[in-house]
Amino acid sequence: MSDASLTDAEARERHLIAEIDSISNQLCQAVDGQFEFHVHTDSDEIALQKMAQLNNFVLDSVRRTIRDLKASRDELESRVQERTQRLNLVLTATNDGVWEWDIDSGQLTLSQRWSSMLGLPHDEGRRGLDDWLALIHEDDRADVQRSLYQHLDGLTASVTVEYRIRDARGAWRMVLCRGLCQRNERGVAIRMAGTQTDTTEQRLGDPMTLLPNGAYLELLLQECLVRSPRPPLALVKFQLLNVASLFDGIAVDDAVGALRRLVQRMRQQLPPRVALIALPEHTFAMVFETDEVARLDEALEPLEALLSQPVEIDGQQVWLSHVSGVAVLDPAEPVSVDEWRHQSRLALANARLSDVGSRRYYSESLRQWERQNSRAEQLIRGALATNGVRCFVQPIVDSSTGEVRGFEALMRLYDPTEGIVAPASFIEVAERSGLIAPLWEMLMEQALPLLRDDIVRERFGGDFLLSVNLSTRQLMDPRLLDDMIAASRRHGVPHTRLQIEVTETSVLSDPIKAFHSLDRIREAGISVALDDFGSGYSSLAQLTSMPMDTVKIDRELVMNVTSLPRKRHVLSAVVALCQRLDYGIVVEGVEERETLEILHDWGATDIQGYIYSRPLPLDRLVQDFRPPKPYLAGLSSVSLARGTSLRVP
Ligand code: C2E
Ligand code: CA
Ligand code: CA
Repeated sequence: MSDASLTDAEARERHLIAEIDSISNQLCQAVDGQFEFHVHTDSDEIALQKMAQLNNFVLDSVRRTIRDLKASRDELESRVQERTQRLNLVLTATNDGVWEWDIDSGQLTLSQRWSSMLGLPHDEGRRGLDDWLALIHEDDRADVQRSLYQHLDGLTASVTVEYRIRDARGAWRMVLCRGLCQRNERGVAIRMAGTQTDTTEQRLGDPMTLLPNGAYLELLLQECLVRSPRPPLALVKFQLLNVASLFDGIAVDDAVGALRRLVQRMRQQLPPRVALIALPEHTFAMVFETDEVARLDEALEPLEALLSQPVEIDGQQVWLSHVSGVAVLDPAEPVSVDEWRHQSRLALANARLSDVGSRRYYSESLRQWERQNSRAEQLIRGALATNGVRCFVQPIVDSSTGEVRGFEALMRLYDPTEGIVAPASFIEVAERSGLIAPLWEMLMEQALPLLRDDIVRERFGGDFLLSVNLSTRQLMDPRLLDDMIAASRRHGVPHTRLQIEVTETSVLSDPIKAFHSLDRIREAGISVALDDFGSGYSSLAQLTSMPMDTVKIDRELVMNVTSLPRKRHVLSAVVALCQRLDYGIVVEGVEERETLEILHDWGATDIQGYIYSRPLPLDRLVQDFRPPKPYLAGLSSVSLARGTSLRVP
């Protein structure tokens, strides 16, 4: 059919179809995702124009929506980027490693930092959870597993677990792991991701000295004990006794700096492979691979040499005192970490009772000592609970006049099964545990009334001193003087009638602090006596500088002087020195008349010993002790006034 033969209607229909087709073709661009066009029609048909118009509206709206979407996508992208940058910054700054665990595949992806934290090569290849767990310390592994699965099962809000993990060198590091699950719309966990922070320095380092700490020692000991075959091993503990007071009065920062320099110097004296580990109370631990005393001596010699020299602290030269305890392990003998540590602790505790500088080795006999200690502690606690402290007194008598110069208060404890117990069984433990202070207060409550007892005054006069023993800890206690004055006031007696007895070991454990305390006590009018002089380690040098009034010469120096001429020489020299230094002298432990005579000849007339009286219970004093007659009435050939001359036998 030719065009000419078409009816109007047919022509219109064709036109409409052609135009609709054209509009459809134009719209095809939209199918390809292209919306930047307008639909147009050349037709005059209203319906077509309307259709084109409406399409253009739709396109417009699509374009606007796309623009909006793009804008928000851009914004989101830049926000994500910013966040990622920030997160990266934080992770770099905190040095955290990142991990991601894909729950379905079980694969673990670790960041480069995660691997480098442990010195492991960073392989892009994926690992499983088991590879991670295998690196974790056996004792911590179950904890880590539990906390991952608890969070996975929705029991916890997040994962937070700290554990030890082995690094590439085989050493342990402490890390803190935090993580969170991502869940789908049904709440099923799809993946878990988180960070791993190295906390080794915080957890295994001592913030004060910057050395490894006790937790590190624990790991080290565990490692030593699982080695197979196990080498011979020695755990050495070293304690500096007077550090705290050396730093007294020094600004904290300076003290910390000085301590760090000191421990660094100590560290340098050890073989490079032996770690110096800081424990509480200025104690240090080291592990050596030997069980031979000679080799240990050799290894410790440089450290001991360093500590035998004065070190400079805050511009001053000061002497450090130390003791050490050693627990040597036999390679064949099975032992636990706790037992090993316990042995070294016992050895050190025992060394602390000995002279400064001493070293003690653990042995079975220390176990026995420990059992006695625990019995002693029971005894002390029982006495404290039942008011079981008993005060005994022993007179100090002037042998030339018979006058009582003083009474020493000596402690006893009452035990329901054992009866009266002497100090040898409990004083050491009481001093070490600090229980001596409450015991001593009970003792003072009984002793102080002696100074205002009318019958006592009538019998022994009103001038004698009440001499009391003090432990190291009490001497260093800044409240001691005030407490003594307050107690005297409570009992209505002048505190100036008190005398304290301190030992050289007490004073030397921390001379600066001790001297300061003694100065204050003497300024307040209380006398100071140096007890047990001549027993064990005595320093004549110390004698000249110590703030004190009287030296009490120990029984050890007096015993057998009548039969041992050399001993007599030593004793006479000590007596002469004390006289020259203008100290009062009390000679303890005099049991025989012959000794008394020798001492009298030398002018040492103040005597405390069984020759006059054993220690007596307070309530038996007046009854059981009468002051002796003025001595040597019949021996006037040697009537020497006290301190006037010296006759060396
Ligand atoms: P110490 O201070 O040297 O006391 C003297 C000790 O020697 C007393 O022993 C005394 O009984 C004994 N003794 C005195 N004369 C003789 C003698 O002629 N021959 C012999 N063989 N021994 C004599 P005690 O009472 O057993 O005291 C032992 C130590 O216990 C005291 O030695 C003192 O270090 C300590 N102690 C006693 N009471 C206290 C106290 O209240 N506090 C403190 N911290 N220590 C105390
Ligand atoms: Ca004493
Ligand atoms: Ca003594």
